[in-house]
Amino acid sequence: MSVDLHVHTTASDGIYSPVQVVKMAVSLGLSAIAITDHDTTEGIKFAKLVAQGLPLEIIPGIEINTEHQGQEIHILGYYYSITDQEFLALLSSLIQARRHRVGKIVARLQQLGYRITLTDVWRVVDGAVPGRPHVADTLVELGLAENRREVFQELLGKNCPGYVPRPKFPPTNAIRHIQQAGGVAVWAHPGMTKADYLLPELIAAGLDGIEVFHPEHSEGQAQHYQDIAEKYQLVQTGGSDFHGYDYEDCLGKPVVPDTILTSLKTRAGQL
Ligand code: AMP
Ligand code: FE
Ligand code: FE
Ligand code: ZN
Repeated sequence: MSVDLHVHTTASDGIYSPVQVVKMAVSLGLSAIAITDHDTTEGIKFAKLVAQGLPLEIIPGIEINTEHQGQEIHILGYYYSITDQEFLALLSSLIQARRHRVGKIVARLQQLGYRITLTDVWRVVDGAVPGRPHVADTLVELGLAENRREVFQELLGKNCPGYVPRPKFPPTNAIRHIQQAGGVAVWAHPGMTKADYLLPELIAAGLDGIEVFHPEHSEGQAQHYQDIAEKYQLVQTGGSDFHGYDYEDCLGKPVVPDTILTSLKTRAGQL
């Protein structure tokens, strides 16, 4: 059986709702999915409700986008308590910071001459945890851009005119908070950051695993991170980073065996 440990829903910047994602996962025959929305547990609750009585385990997940020495580092969390009050308070503050950042991005776009307002963006966000993808979707809806990818390449990606840096929140803090809530912390798609020199610091902070299998990793990179995981005794995880917004973006790919769950649960002290 295979699993997908990296899935986004409409609770953050995914296109499909938790209900839709659960149905897709069941029809693909996956045995477990982790809902890893950015900074929110909302999607997990709905997914768990819908998956009741279905042959699909819903793993509580999270993805926290952090910053370290100018590098964007994404930290995934698994098997933490979704009712941990301190962790929920942290997520609230991160969401607040996201709202603030979106405001700054819209102001920047207005300066650049784009006819976009915050009201337009909040309508597209529709109660989700906001991020740059929603600003991109708004530009598309207003007929000012083609798709998310184009907006990231030309306007909102790093070193682009509309880029606003995220507030400083170090990866070591994300690791600590996830673990304090009883979870395991995993470095998401390290091949996208290309900052292996950070590994010793993250491991010293208690990093539990690295995401070896990810659609943006080449076979060579997957092998490289597999070797690193073995060397440092880190759990090897993987997932599709499904957001649902383009043809290459497929739930359940790359294929990840369910045996990984045993390592993750052991590390989380749940076995
Ligand atoms: P933010 O959290 O607001 O900084 O936005 C980062 C999110 O944007 C990531 O988690 C991805 O979901 C998405 N993203 C990053 N790069 C791209 C891209 N090139 N095309 C589409 N979405 C992207
Ligand atoms: Fe995302
Ligand atoms: Fe990510
Ligand atoms: Zn992700």
